[in-house]
Amino acid sequence: MQMITVLGATGSIGISTLDVIARHPDKYAVFALSAHTQINKLAEQCQQFNPKFAVVSDAVLADQLQAKLRACGCATEAIYGVDALCQVSSDAAVDTVMAAIVGAAGLVPTLAAVHAGKKILLANKEALVMAGGLFMQAVADSGSMLLPIDSEHNAIFQCLPTDYGTSSGADRGVEKLLLSASGGPFRGMSLEQMHSVTPDQACAHPNWSMGRKISVDSASLMNKGLELIEACWLFAVPEQSIEVVVHPQSIIHSLVQYADGSVLAQLGNPDMRTPIAHALAWPQRIESGVAHLDLFEIARLDFEKPDMRAFPCLAIARAAAQAGGDAATILNAANEVAVQAFLDQRIGFTQIAAVVKETLNRQAVSEPESLEAVQESDNQARLYSSAYITRLEK
Ligand code: NDP
Ligand code: MG
Repeated sequence: MQMITVLGATGSIGISTLDVIARHPDKYAVFALSAHTQINKLAEQCQQFNPKFAVVSDAVLADQLQAKLRACGCATEAIYGVDALCQVSSDAAVDTVMAAIVGAAGLVPTLAAVHAGKKILLANKEALVMAGGLFMQAVADSGSMLLPIDSEHNAIFQCLPTDYGTSSGADRGVEKLLLSASGGPFRGMSLEQMHSVTPDQACAHPNWSMGRKISVDSASLMNKGLELIEACWLFAVPEQSIEVVVHPQSIIHSLVQYADGSVLAQLGNPDMRTPIAHALAWPQRIESGVAHLDLFEIARLDFEKPDMRAFPCLAIARAAAQAGGDAATILNAANEVAVQAFLDQRIGFTQIAAVVKETLNRQAVSEPESLEAVQESDNQARLYSSAYITRLEK
């Protein structure tokens, strides 16, 4: 029996994870679930999965949740705060942690799981983008198993040889990683046409149903930029070895090109339960609830190059990957602030790129030696981008 903590249980990935877990009560049990503020949804999940702990973000919410749990006779204990998230991620009873909190808030609890040597199912790409060097060093030091949930990275993981990167210099003939991108809801539109798009339009992804932050990132292609940086860390490759391929059907989730001309791809219907089930059961395979792929119904697969003029975020992220140091930390923080401002209708969609670019131009890149240094550059970038947004509003 694998004992699992699901961080971000009430989100899109959290709900899909619990759906897969519920299909295999003989294999998986839930140790803890977490949410930020959605206590009603969390209480329902506690009733169904009966975890030892449920974690929320503050004391008042924890009291309210505890009252709800008692009223329905559920024995789960409600606790709160970052220390509680770290505790349920590192407890000796836990085997696996699904890291599915959105944004930088996921970093500290995910790192706690890494330090404790847990098996990590990583959906929270921002944690890796923000602190890649420290994160991967912690994984190496603790011997924790890191499995990618992001569909593209999970696909690449599946297409790489199982001993890839394990012995020194063993590249096994891997030449290039081809990162799939759907192109998002604004594919084919010009920069000018995107000036007036609304948050709801940005969140209406053609193929995937996701949380609002990643939906906006997918629309601006910043998601692909973050994924490029994520892939550099996960697979220890330079950004030049990664090419973004726009593939509107989202059936091929990514590909690996080899020296002999072979290209291996992973295909499947666009449903996150496939990568979640893959990582949960790895190296076994389990049923995920996802419908089997019908190639005859799909009939065709299309590919195109990304429009770099219409989607400047991709080039900005690539430049940050090239710059190294804490450039990706700054990029991620400024993007989180800008996306929230766009969702709050304080700035326009195309101003997201401007905010991120301006913040990167203003903040000198340094090599963060500690988690505190990462948090300091994250903080500075948030302060600068927030002030810049206030100026844009005037
Ligand atoms: P959602 O917004 O749907 O869910 C986010 C989860 O994190 C919720 O449980 C939310 O709680 C919790 N949360 C939000 N803010 C905080 C905070 N400050 N502290 C603690 N918990 C918090 O996001 P998604 O599920 O879409 O995405 C989660 C992560 O997975 C992201 O990093 C995303 O990039 C990545 N990912 C998602 C994919 C998808 O298909 N959705 C695909 C690939 C990667 P509450 O509900 O109470 O607000
Ligand atoms: Mg992805």
